[in-house]
Amino acid sequence: MTDGSSSWRPATVAVTAGRPAGPGEPFSVPPTFASTYRDGGTVGYGRWGNPTWTALEDALGALEGGRALTFASGQAAMAAVLETLPVGAAVLLPRDAYLGTRGFLADVATRGRLVALPVDMTDTAAVLAQLADAHLLWAESPINPLLGVVDLPVVLAAAADLGIPSVVDNTFATPVLQQPLALGATAVMHSATKYIGGHSDLLLGAVVTRDEELLAGLLARRSLHGAIPGTQEAWLALRGLRTLPLRVERAQATAGLLAERLAQSPAVARVRYPGLPSHPGHALAAAQMSGPGAMLSFELGSAETADAVTAGLRLIVGGTSLGGVESTIDRRRRWAGEERVPPGLLRLSVGIEDPEDLWSDLEQALDRGVG
Ligand SMILES: *Cc1c(COP(=O)(O)O)cnc(C)c1O
Repeated sequence: MTDGSSSWRPATVAVTAGRPAGPGEPFSVPPTFASTYRDGGTVGYGRWGNPTWTALEDALGALEGGRALTFASGQAAMAAVLETLPVGAAVLLPRDAYLGTRGFLADVATRGRLVALPVDMTDTAAVLAQLADAHLLWAESPINPLLGVVDLPVVLAAAADLGIPSVVDNTFATPVLQQPLALGATAVMHSATKYIGGHSDLLLGAVVTRDEELLAGLLARRSLHGAIPGTQEAWLALRGLRTLPLRVERAQATAGLLAERLAQSPAVARVRYPGLPSHPGHALAAAQMSGPGAMLSFELGSAETADAVTAGLRLIVGGTSLGGVESTIDRRRRWAGEERVPPGLLRLSVGIEDPEDLWSDLEQALDRGVG
C-alpha cells in the first residue's frame, strides 16, 4: 500500500482492495479458470491456489484486518478451523450456534474426534466459568436466529489470558459492522454465501487471521481436504463484496424501521433486534458493533399463525439462508435442531428493496394471517 490507504474506512476498502495496480492491467482481477499451471510460476496446481481467490482474500483480509483464506463454503471454512485441533480437544460454543456448526461438532464428537461444550454465550459468567475446560472458544454474535449478543471483548480477552485461541463467526455482522480481530479474536469465520456474496447465487466461506501458524494450518487443511472455492464463485463474491457496505447500510436502515413498526403491531408478541433499546443485547451491540445489522426475528402466537403470515407475503420470499439483496423469511423451528426456538418465531433477513414496500407487505400479511 502506497498512500493513505491504511486509514481508509470499510466503504473505501471494499471498493479498492484486491485490485491489480500496474499500468495497463484491468481494474478487476479476471476469473482464472485453471486446474494446472506451467512450471516456473507460483501456484502450480489448482487446489493450491488461484489468482481469483487471492484477489478476494486480499479484499476480505483488508476489511477484517488480517489475512484471509477462502473455502468452498462457510461450512468448509468452519471445518478447516476445527480440524486444526488435536484429537479430544474441547470446543466451547454457543448452545444456539449456527446449526451446521453444532451438527459438525456433534458428528465428530460421536467418533471421539472433538468434544463440544455448549453454553449460553450471552451469559458471560457462564462462559468464563467453562472457558478453562476448553481448547478453543467458538463464538458467534449476533447469534442465529435468537439474535443474542455475546460480550466479545470480555470473552475473547478471557480466552487470550488462558492461552485459548478464539474464533468468531462474523456472518451476521459482516466486517462492515464488526471486526472481531480488533476485539481480540484469533480468527474470524464467514459464510460469504450470505452478505459478502449478497445475491443468493453462490456458496463460499472464509477464515481471516493474523496468526501465521493458524494460517499455515488452514492452508494445509484446504489443500489436503480439497474444499476449495470455485473460480466463478470467488469472482462473484468479490463483485458482491464491492457493494457490501452499501447493501448492509441500506438493509440495516430498513431493518431498524421494520423492527420498530413490528414492535408496535398488536399482532406481534416480541421482536428480537439488537437495534431496539428493549433488546437485552442492545448496549453490548452498540459498544462492539458499528450498527445492529439487518437480521431480525419476530414472534407470532403459534407455528400455524407464522406459517399463515408467511404464505400471505407477496414480496418477501419464504426460504432459508440470508444476506441477499432480496428479503427472505424463515420459520426456524421447522428445522431439526432448532427445538429451543419458539414455534411462532419468524427470522427476517431484510434486503435492499424499498422499505415502505416491505412494510406494506408485512402489514397486509399480518392483517390477513393473524386477523
Ligand atoms: C450459513 C451460515 C454458515 C454456513 O455457511 P455455508 O456457506 O452455508 O456453508 C455458518 N454460520 C452462519 C452464521 C451461517 O449463517
